[in-house]
Amino acid sequence: MGDLNQSLPFMAQKSDNPLALAFSELKAGGMMMDMMTRKSGPIPDWPSFWAKRRPQFFGAYINIPFCQSICGFCGFYKVRPEPDLLKSYLTALISEIRRQGHLASDLDLKISALYLGGGTPSILSASEIERLFSEIKLHLPLTDDCEITFEARLSTLDEEKLKVIFASSINRLSIGIQSFDTSVRREAGRKDSREEIIEKLSLIRENFSGLTVIDLIYGLPGQSLDIFASDLDLAASCKAHGVAFYLLKAVPGSLWHKDITSGLKSPLDGLAKLSEYYALAVKKLSTHGLERSSNNHFSLPSTDRNRYNRLSMGRYSIMAFGAGAGGNHEGSHYYNTRQVSSYIEKIEQKQDPVALFQPSQPDYEIQDKISRQVQSGTINLDNIEIENGQRRDNFERYLEQWQSAGLLYQSDGGLSLTTAGYFWSPNLEFALRSLFDPKA
Ligand code: SF4
Repeated sequence: MGDLNQSLPFMAQKSDNPLALAFSELKAGGMMMDMMTRKSGPIPDWPSFWAKRRPQFFGAYINIPFCQSICGFCGFYKVRPEPDLLKSYLTALISEIRRQGHLASDLDLKISALYLGGGTPSILSASEIERLFSEIKLHLPLTDDCEITFEARLSTLDEEKLKVIFASSINRLSIGIQSFDTSVRREAGRKDSREEIIEKLSLIRENFSGLTVIDLIYGLPGQSLDIFASDLDLAASCKAHGVAFYLLKAVPGSLWHKDITSGLKSPLDGLAKLSEYYALAVKKLSTHGLERSSNNHFSLPSTDRNRYNRLSMGRYSIMAFGAGAGGNHEGSHYYNTRQVSSYIEKIEQKQDPVALFQPSQPDYEIQDKISRQVQSGTINLDNIEIENGQRRDNFERYLEQWQSAGLLYQSDGGLSLTTAGYFWSPNLEFALRSLFDPKA
């Protein structure tokens, strides 16, 4: 063992309630942690970048950063869908789909998960959705079993759009419900009522041959544990194939963050309270027969592959399309320019829309293995191949300490996350990855 007196910043607090008390803050998970901490570098030559090593798994993300109305909790970049702007954006996006699609085909890369997110992709008109998907089909090299997810907000879906969606190659609809409760929804800036969304969801379930996934948020103002329990029951009774549940944060840039900081709105619930919602979600969804597929996503057995999210959280290769979209490959990350007008201008002038490139770090393979193990719910040091020395010792010290603090337990495959371990998994991932961060 190395220097046992050296302090490690992510030792958990030991208590009889690790779910509520293990840490006092929750780190940003996934790619966010890299985006905020990594140095940028020169934009590479893209054919050489993608040809560097054949991706083990390859996905693509298309961003539609437009929203008709703004939800109080949302910190994503989005703009109002002025018709001319939307039209020019779609044209620019299609030209990127053609250009990068051909690059991927030339390198014989096959996309096994495609995700259209935003913003609100369902804000596109029926004819725009049709046009976009005919271009996708023609120019993107999709595998035969490609998971094609389309994010939708129910208020934007009319009969005509639904018909186009049902007839398209979309095979997974991700629907942001957030809460079924009418007053909680209205407080968050969502106009449609509980009854309206239940009716539309059942129409989708009856007529759509693909999968439906419902997104919920917990900790919303006015949403008690009882209301959240009813949200989970309703998601299950609407026969969603998958349910994802996200913790509410006052995200800088959101309307609520501004109101809370200026004292116009009460602070949101703290982590100890939020952890109760998390435990409730795990219990309720398991009772309804859904199985865990990640720390915040449960699915009906053998239905929802949740493939894109697994690729993205597991730091596999993703090709990015559209303003603000982010991609990665072999430990390097890149982000397109966020401003819609500047994205359109760059594409029209045949310039690269990438605004930020973060090259890989020396130990990215170990770091990515760590992320995949934490995401999978079982950590096994034997499969990470860390040399003997201080970093390995610190890794072991973390695992031992977290086990004694109730975040991990010994299982057949290694050390598995308890419910508390899953709740705090962004901290576990951050702590273990940080051991291999050259800045640390
Ligand atoms: S939550 Fe979704 S629909 Fe609401 S403002 Fe944000 S991106 Fe738009």
